[in-house]
Amino acid sequence: MSRFVVVGAGITGLTAAFEWRRRRPDDEIVVLEAGDRIGGKLHRIELAGHWYDTGPEAMLARVPDAVALVEALGLGDRLVAPATTQASVVLPDGRHPLPAGTVLGVPASAEGLEGFLSPDGVARVRAEADLPPVRPDGDVAVGALLRERLGDEVVDRLVEPLLGGVYAGRADELSLQATMPALAASLPAAGSVLGAAAAARDAGIRSRGDADGPVFVTVSDGIGSLPAALVEAARADVRLRTPAHGLRRTPGGFQLSIGSAAEPELLDADHVLVTAPALKAARLLREVAPGAVEPLAGIPYASMAVVAMAFPAQDVPAGSGLLVPPVTGRLVKGVTVSSAKWPHLGGGEALLVRSSVGRFRAEEDLQRDDDELIAAVVADVADLLGLDRPEPLQTALIRWGGGLPQYLVGHRERVAAVRAAVAEVPGLEVAGAAFDGLGVPACIRDATRAVTALLG
Ligand SMILES: Cc1cc2nc3c(=O)[nH]c(=O)nc-3n(C[C@H](O)[C@H](O)[C@H](O)COP(=O)(O)OP(=O)(O)OC[C@H]3O[C@@H](n4cnc5c(N)ncnc54)[C@H](O)[C@@H]3O)c2cc1C
Repeated sequence: MSRFVVVGAGITGLTAAFEWRRRRPDDEIVVLEAGDRIGGKLHRIELAGHWYDTGPEAMLARVPDAVALVEALGLGDRLVAPATTQASVVLPDGRHPLPAGTVLGVPASAEGLEGFLSPDGVARVRAEADLPPVRPDGDVAVGALLRERLGDEVVDRLVEPLLGGVYAGRADELSLQATMPALAASLPAAGSVLGAAAAARDAGIRSRGDADGPVFVTVSDGIGSLPAALVEAARADVRLRTPAHGLRRTPGGFQLSIGSAAEPELLDADHVLVTAPALKAARLLREVAPGAVEPLAGIPYASMAVVAMAFPAQDVPAGSGLLVPPVTGRLVKGVTVSSAKWPHLGGGEALLVRSSVGRFRAEEDLQRDDDELIAAVVADVADLLGLDRPEPLQTALIRWGGGLPQYLVGHRERVAAVRAAVAEVPGLEVAGAAFDGLGVPACIRDATRAVTALLG
């Protein structure tokens, strides 16, 4: 019997605990959590009588790890597919359906872009065929490449709203290789962005085992219900309000200093998995894996806030919601009409909506007190959805300070450097949103990878 210590009780840490229990039924598993609840970014509230996610609300089914985990927990019957996924983009000249067949907003051709882009914007996309083949030299910013090859409108109207939604990031800073790996990999052979987007899109379709299945799923009582199910199945000793703030090697394994910094408790471990956000992981690895510190510290985070709202039931424009890029000058960056998107949240007496605010390097959007921020978001949402009855029945604001890691240019090299430094320390692993994908399925996959690596 040995002791496995996980730092962080988010989806990554708890999945690792569960996975460890499946493979090593008799080991002791301790999960250290600095906060006062489990789940990390997974969080649900009660909204108008429903369980309602205020962290992640949809999981990519195409990356199968989340669906597989929910099924392994015996909760497969709670997986729900969206009733609609048709989103629209709000642009200065009105609302337009999001064009189909793009790769995170990068079009594979100029077809279907009329009306969404200006005639000049569409012509710019078409004109890529006349440009010399693209030969990227290493990683580049998504925005830099696309502005040069396809024009500003593709970035500002199409790619920015999608990257803003997934990363709360900016196209002009995010890494092509890290945020669009399939497209980046296809670029040298395709020689054009349009060709690479087509190749990435087709490869994505081919790799989907269940081509007719939903692209996204959720869980009927909230993705935020998974942490408790994982803890129970893992039979883990979860210690809340117990940060790990020191880690050192011992002849037999590791020793962590945990709890109060003034009067730390010492905890021995045979294996350690660190899933804390990058800067905290950097502090923890200072002594055991100094080579990981600088690259980890180079991964910044964007802060954001989610406002959950229940309005009286009323008609709203069809579709799952709206993407709102910065070119609109609006405060909110997205509106999800949850009661239209998810069948289990629809048909009741309330219109359930969530909206998010906050982008990387735009923290000033969040610097209002709670009431002011809620009022501003409700006003934006009521206007965007054209609500006849804009007085909410219930609202909740959840602030996510340092919510989403930014995969900036060079991210993959940073991750490789972290992984190389950690690999020199047998029994130690790092995993989580900072590395190879920040979506819930990617975190689950990384947790499983880490457990496999630790168990050899
Ligand atoms: C508002 C929002 C919406 C999102 N929407 C989606 C979505 O729809 N779909 C999707 O797939 N993904 C979404 N994501 C992304 C996804 O939810 C996260 O990337 C993922 O949940 C991160 O999981 P994690 O376990 O790696 O990290 P975290 O959830 O951040 O967990 C890390 C844990 O470590 C703890 N910790 C930190 N330092 C220490 C320490 N020193 N000692 C002990 N514990 C420590 C923290 O308190 C935290 O609980 C969203 C994220 C946010 C913020």
